Amino acid sequence: MGDSNGLWFNGVEYLNSTKQTSVSVGEAKSKKIAIVGGGMSVLMTSLLLTSVGMTNWHITESTERIGGRVRTRCLNDSKPDNYQYQEMRPIRFPVAVKYTDSNETLDIQDPKLVFQLSDVLNGMNGNDIEPAVNVILASYASAVQARSVAALSEEDHVALVQEAMVEVHGEIANEQWAGAYDRQCWEVDEHQAGAWASVAVGQQELFIPAYHKSELNTIFIGDHTSITHAWIFFALESAVRGTTQLLLELGLVDEVKKVVDTWMARWITI
Ligand SMILES: Cc1cc2nc3c(=O)[nH]c(=O)nc-3n(C[C@H](O)[C@H](O)[C@H](O)COP(=O)(O)OP(=O)(O)OC[C@H]3O[C@@H](n4cnc5c(N)ncnc54)[C@H](O)[C@@H]3O)c2cc1C
Repeated sequence: MGDSNGLWFNGVEYLNSTKQTSVSVGEAKSKKIAIVGGGMSVLMTSLLLTSVGMTNWHITESTERIGGRVRTRCLNDSKPDNYQYQEMRPIRFPVAVKYTDSNETLDIQDPKLVFQLSDVLNGMNGNDIEPAVNVILASYASAVQARSVAALSEEDHVALVQEAMVEVHGEIANEQWAGAYDRQCWEVDEHQAGAWASVAVGQQELFIPAYHKSELNTIFIGDHTSITHAWIFFALESAVRGTTQLLLELGLVDEVKKVVDTWMARWITI
């Protein structure tokens, strides 16, 4: 796995470092795997392990739900089919960029992993797909602004947002305000402590090599461990890399090839 800085993750070197000799495939596949957290990276990992015949895994999640930062909230205790829901999570999956000066459109490769996953999951569900509806409000504050509003009381925060709605849309925003809302401040969520990883200069070189090594039989995944961070496809990509790492440590090279070939692991060469 590499970028302009060179290789970050070298599968062959990794395999050699595990000093594997011969492997009992059955024994390796029956290993018990503990998976911590229930976000996209972890759910993807369980799917990848299952796809190569490893089913002895167990997920431990600290909240009462899975999905992590992928979070949809229904307003007023309504049900999803009332369509009063609000996305508190990823909503942008850019697929192409258009350069106006040259009129050239280039595909962005990474989000294709998200669409590949949704195709696979829809296939597993017999293509029983819920029709998508528009979100109620798709906007959030980040950085200093997010920290400031998180410090407000719930009442003040809601009033501030309502005031902004009137500023943008006019008095109709007051007339149509039904009073239903939800509030999610990621930084003060005890299970998250932030909305996404945003590394500063130098931190990438400092942290990534450490993330890509197992410590005490532990492998680190999650969007923050990816060479390009903070997006859902990098949470998924980290699952591909983490699963690769685990399978290599177990000596399951054919299974690694299957995962890498199937799941667009374009940075990993095995
Ligand atoms: C407001 C917002 C907007 C975003 N917009 C976009 C977007 O437009 N496009 C995009 O691609 N991405 C977007 N993202 C990023 C995307 O949501 C994340 O990259 C992705 O969901 C991260 O998945 P993950 O598995 O790495 O981590 P998480 O989803 O954070 O999963 C971690 C899980 O671990 C659990 N946990 C924590 N501590 C413990 C513990 N001690 N024991 C057990 N479990 C624990 C947590 O409860 C959580 O369920 C956005 C994120 C936010 C918050």
